[in-house]
Amino acid sequence: MSVISVEKLSYQYPGGGVEAVREVSFEVGRGEVFGFLGPSGAGKSTMQKVLTRLLPGYSGSAQVFGQDLSSWGDNFYENIGVCFELPASYLKLTARENLDLFAVLYRNEVRTTDDLLEQVGLLDAADQRLSEFSKGMQIRLNFARSLLNRPELLFLDEPTGGLDPGNAARIKKIIRAQRTAGTTVFLTTHDMMVADELCDRVAFIVEGKIPIIDTPRELKLNYGDAVVDIKWRDDTGLDRQSVPLGSFDSRSLAESLNALQSGGRRIETIHSREATLEQVFLKVTGSSLQ
Ligand code: ADP
Repeated sequence: MSVISVEKLSYQYPGGGVEAVREVSFEVGRGEVFGFLGPSGAGKSTMQKVLTRLLPGYSGSAQVFGQDLSSWGDNFYENIGVCFELPASYLKLTARENLDLFAVLYRNEVRTTDDLLEQVGLLDAADQRLSEFSKGMQIRLNFARSLLNRPELLFLDEPTGGLDPGNAARIKKIIRAQRTAGTTVFLTTHDMMVADELCDRVAFIVEGKIPIIDTPRELKLNYGDAVVDIKWRDDTGLDRQSVPLGSFDSRSLAESLNALQSGGRRIETIHSREATLEQVFLKVTGSSLQ
């Protein structure tokens, strides 16, 4: 059974304008990390808000945990965790007080504050007020909060946005651990590295529409051009050439390398490089991710 099942869903903000999401359909399986990848304004946050019941009034159908979104009551929030991009915590309270405050809103058993703070690297700052926190610390606390109720389904919007590389890696590690533990993750991002590293499947979204959904590997294999970068040195110095991998068979690769080695050249490095999701995105949608 799918954890999320969406069919021909459209959403238009009150006041008219074009539809922010247009007839999108997709399924997300249990334990899957499913990504929406698209540039700013593509409709990613709108989809998150519809699926977390913040935006009613959509057309089409949306089921979560096998039940129509519109028929869920507030107990829906016992089962999901939400981490949207902008931190929404109390600046005058400490990190510990913030988590304790949100913990009492749940009926089900919650995780311990210290455990959560330790996971996101904030245990030492537990008793500091949020007004003294850097933006990155606030983002990490916001992420920790989304895990309080041991959610079966986690909604993450740009989960590593605004974090330094070390803390971005920490958050990615937690997301992978959640997946291993069976949590389903619906993630939105404009960062192709995040989508590539974390997602089992990725939906490209542009102007509210989804032209393709597949695994990052299949997307790159089917739509990307892998290349071989060769660097060599000769009397005049260092030079390089990039050759599409598809243009070689095994014999011509050997022949090409032999040819390059002739005339006093010495090959220094050979690297094959697969296409990036950003290149695939441009090829499939005609739009850039930026
Ligand atoms: P993304 O998350 O991919 O950056 P959004 O879902 O925020 O994109 O926005 C999709 C479209 O909906 C954009 O054209 C945006 O201008 C519009 N939009 C977003 N929020 C509102 C709103 N509250 N009222 C009217 N239009 C909105």
